[in-house]
Amino acid sequence: MTKKNINQVVIIGGGIAAHTAAIYTGRAKLEPLVLSGIKADQLSLTTEVENFPGFPQGVLGPDLISNAKKQAQKFGASYLNETAKSFAIKDGYFEITTDEKTYPTLTVIIATGATAKKLGVPGEDQYFGRGVSTCATCDAALYKDKIAVVVGGGDSAMEEVIALKKFAKNVTIVHRGSEFSASQIMQDRILALAEKKEIEIIWDTIVTEVVGDGKFVTGVKLKNNKTKEESELKTNGLFLAIGHRPNTEIFQNKIKLDRVGYIEADKNMHTSVAGVFAAGDVQDHIWRQAVTSAGSGCIAALAAEKYLENIKADK
Ligand code: NDP
Repeated sequence: MTKKNINQVVIIGGGIAAHTAAIYTGRAKLEPLVLSGIKADQLSLTTEVENFPGFPQGVLGPDLISNAKKQAQKFGASYLNETAKSFAIKDGYFEITTDEKTYPTLTVIIATGATAKKLGVPGEDQYFGRGVSTCATCDAALYKDKIAVVVGGGDSAMEEVIALKKFAKNVTIVHRGSEFSASQIMQDRILALAEKKEIEIIWDTIVTEVVGDGKFVTGVKLKNNKTKEESELKTNGLFLAIGHRPNTEIFQNKIKLDRVGYIEADKNMHTSVAGVFAAGDVQDHIWRQAVTSAGSGCIAALAAEKYLENIKADK
């Protein structure tokens, strides 16, 4: 591999973590190549973002993303709408292959995100972003005095309920089981709210369809798993909290992943492989915020820059 055709850094991903890493590595004159893929990132699927610092009036998720990309391009980042299909660790460098080409690089920043799981029921895709959401922390404030339904029984579902309860006039959890799988403390909090009739819980029930008026969600169709009874519940929003799937298939058996498949990164965004860094939701199943993703993208970029300085100094 000649010095000429090897990249200093390839960033894989098209979300806020990737763009932030591209801004920082671009400003450091590392000429980052960003393989931004073809799938939309989480922010591009959201409408209003009210909690990203610096935007007192809020900012549209897709605007935040396209502005961050433009900012990175201003500093010399190149973007390709290509999806990384394989990743190889070579002697002192890495290779990332897409359907188009193989890109050799001295460092890699993985920011491939995690995809929220969907129910796969009719109406879910049609009303996505128009009542169907995967992030109450992002969208709860849009539900002031409205009705919201949360699906799921894990920690995310409990958190979505707490976030929504601050705004919505009525919050119901629909769970397919007869007990929650969330941590005890979170379950206790939610069960206490139900006891006080501040929220409602519908057990042993699945959502079979999202219904709407053509523009926005107006309700969900339900089916009880045990009695098979079908019903319809009026709601303005359906929050899916049934887990996320980290986009790490191509890194399996190459980089250390946790039990669920998230990349294990330390606080400097180093992965188990020197020269490979991770940022954003692909290494964070807890916080998953735009600002924490951007922060980890920044750290990954600075860490990659430092790594490159060190390998140059060693030669
Ligand atoms: P989980 O996998 O823990 O829970 C998913 C929930 O969704 C389960 O109740 C599951 O039901 C239900 N579910 C899954 N698929 C479907 C489906 N097709 N239809 C209906 N329901 C479904 O995901 P979370 O996102 O809640 O949590 C992921 C991880 O992140 C956990 O380790 C959690 O502890 C952690 N986390 C921690 C937080 C914190 O510490 N503050 C906050 C949020 C998450 P069933 O039980 O029947 O399988």
